[in-house]
Amino acid sequence: MSPEVKPDFLISPEGLRIDGRRPDELRPIELKVGVLKQANGSASIRQGKTYIIAGVYGPRELHPRHLTINDRAYLRVVYRMATFSVPDRKRPAPSRREREISMVIANSLKPALFLEEYPKAVVDVFIQVIQADGGTRCAAINAASLALADAGIPMRCLVPAVAVGKADGKLLVDLGDEEDKYGQGDVPMAILPTTDEITLLQQDGFFKREELVEAMQMGINSCKYLHELQKDALKRVYAKKPSDGEDEEYEDDLETDLGDAEIAGDE
Ligand code: UDP
Repeated sequence: MSPEVKPDFLISPEGLRIDGRRPDELRPIELKVGVLKQANGSASIRQGKTYIIAGVYGPRELHPRHLTINDRAYLRVVYRMATFSVPDRKRPAPSRREREISMVIANSLKPALFLEEYPKAVVDVFIQVIQADGGTRCAAINAASLALADAGIPMRCLVPAVAVGKADGKLLVDLGDEEDKYGQGDVPMAILPTTDEITLLQQDGFFKREELVEAMQMGINSCKYLHELQKDALKRVYAKKPSDGEDEEYEDDLETDLGDAEIAGDE
């Protein structure tokens, strides 16, 4: 593999990004539900070249017992990067960054879950980054919330997440790795789309107040689009299979949902 070279510019004179995207355009996204046989629920996400798998186990008995919470389940999230997921081999031992991201992901998912329905139990969420190309914590939240739904954990709603960043003075949605590394900062965020509550908001780099407000609005719009994609991924697995004569209605339902998503993404 050739060594990475700093690009001459991140925004072209035509206003396009290094991979040809518009500033408010997400990378191509592929979501799949039910990808692991052993897990109670699972999902994978490809977001550009970032590729992540999430597996949910539980609710089940919690070990070690001293972690027990009497009035609700413990949501235990483990985010890990494979040694081969980044250009420089990642050391297999859990890093401080991985521990922090695990905590941040748990905090963004918890408000969506009815953990009080399983006192003293644990819901384990294992997230494995197979290939990292920027935005892994947000892609992980997108996949993990689908895996939780697939496991049948009672939820208020799914949790979509995206990072909005800044490069060459322009706000950009869903940063790729080079934009993340050579840009001026990023704001990863996650929302509960049914109430517009923000469950993740971090900031790296410097943003003026009005830039931050605009970045958050761009993030919310993108999260709503992602939410449509998440719902569609679930429907592909769980929507009632059409019996004879119902085919057209079933196709119409899926098309209507996708159509709305495309409109939201164009905003
Ligand atoms: N990265 C890397 N080696 C590492 C950790 C991260 O090459 O040990 C890259 C990876 O592509 C990741 C990006 O740096 O997606 C940005 O990492 P950050 O900590 O900002 O988290 P993320 O944007 O992935 O949520």
